[in-house]
Amino acid sequence: MSTLPVPGWAERIAEGLGEGPHVVVAGISPSGHIHVGNLREVLVGEAVANALRARGEEVRFVFHADTIDPLRKIAPGIPESFEEFMGHSLSRVPDPEGCHVSYAEHFLAPFEEALREMEMDIEVLRSHELYENGVYTEVTREALEHTEELREILQEVTGRRMPEHWSPYLPRDASGKLTGHRILEHVPEANKVVFEDEDGFEEAADYSRGEGKLGWRVELAARWKALGVTFEPFGKDHTTSGGSTETADRMAREVFHYPVPGRYEYEWIGLKGRGDMSSSRGIVLLPKDLLRIMPPDALRRMVLGRDPSRRSDLELGEGFPRFMDEYRAEPGEPFVPFTHLVTVAQTVGEDVDAAAEMLRRGGYEEAARDREKLARDLAYARNWAEEWAPESMRLRLLSVEEAREAARDLDEEQRAYLAAVAEKLSPEMSGDEVQDLLYSTAVESGLKPKKAFAAVYTVLLGKKSGPKAGPFIAGLPFEMVRERFLV
Ligand SMILES: [Zn+2]
Repeated sequence: MSTLPVPGWAERIAEGLGEGPHVVVAGISPSGHIHVGNLREVLVGEAVANALRARGEEVRFVFHADTIDPLRKIAPGIPESFEEFMGHSLSRVPDPEGCHVSYAEHFLAPFEEALREMEMDIEVLRSHELYENGVYTEVTREALEHTEELREILQEVTGRRMPEHWSPYLPRDASGKLTGHRILEHVPEANKVVFEDEDGFEEAADYSRGEGKLGWRVELAARWKALGVTFEPFGKDHTTSGGSTETADRMAREVFHYPVPGRYEYEWIGLKGRGDMSSSRGIVLLPKDLLRIMPPDALRRMVLGRDPSRRSDLELGEGFPRFMDEYRAEPGEPFVPFTHLVTVAQTVGEDVDAAAEMLRRGGYEEAARDREKLARDLAYARNWAEEWAPESMRLRLLSVEEAREAARDLDEEQRAYLAAVAEKLSPEMSGDEVQDLLYSTAVESGLKPKKAFAAVYTVLLGKKSGPKAGPFIAGLPFEMVRERFLV
């Protein structure tokens, strides 16, 4: 579970919600990748659930995965042959890559795994199972009995005329399709509807057994009642005038006689320089991608931002080390600057002992003590360096041959300088001592420091600049440095 303090905005929402027990729900469709933008909705729910728990309320926190929803469009990267499954439940469409039991699971499973990795206290409910288990039976009957009122509300709010045979319920036909049917009769005592399919054949569906679903605007209001929802966050696409919350609010009050749950409207998040997160436009960043470069609580902090009712752009490039340092600095414990971890990780690879030694000599004794934590932090830093870091922060130690090649660009003074440093360098020097040595030798040789340091970086990294040289060199095996300084 998260150890972050409950944010102020979440506390204020919780204050506005009455006595419990509470059911907090986040609803997401697995019709495509469930990205970091969707995670924001879940995290808003989590923060409010935690705020309610903190005041002693009983809270059920639910992730309602809309697995029974019909396939409406083909997500980017899905074969066109999937056209044949249009209108079929996502839970009954095959996995486009063949690795999960269904299309829905293919997109849901990685997200669910990220939630587990974040140790989130959340129940993941699949809507097709809720329908199959009868959770929606009562509200479906109610909806069918009030078809005319529901249609009226839809028409008034959206300003659109509903088709003549509109029904709140979409029964599944023999081919698997949920859409395009005409309900002929409702038999409430048998939980059954009789309907005409597209080809004019008469079929029947039992709504207590998941043989269909409510249309999604009606389902939203019905779900509040069926699950006893008291709070649900929404993205701004739902809350616009004529949007799904406006119809659901009226349906809840006027048809289902259920109080409208507490609400919070969150804004989108984007990726700096890339625009809004969107599955349909292919700008997709999955929670699991970000858990490769930061711990769960840092991810919570980044995705929620200071105030989730405002837009925020995730900064995963140049500004990321500063974000990590602010996150690490908060508990007031000593920490290694992220840029330094990035240097260490790229220098030692996966050798945790070598990393610990490098950190010790760089003056970060404390941070090197907990090896397990160090191994995790190094992995974050290494993954970030490989996947997101700007070119200027990517390092690779040159081989001796490469160093010899690179040294051809140096002049006599610079070569003499490197040789002089190599002469005085000793294995037990700390980062600060090496830094002093590099400076004083430059002064003694009458070489400008900038030119001197450029020589150092050239033979080590093949670049004119790099991480702070003293701690970097102190962290490297002594012989390795000497060899390259004497090429
Ligand atoms: Zn799959």
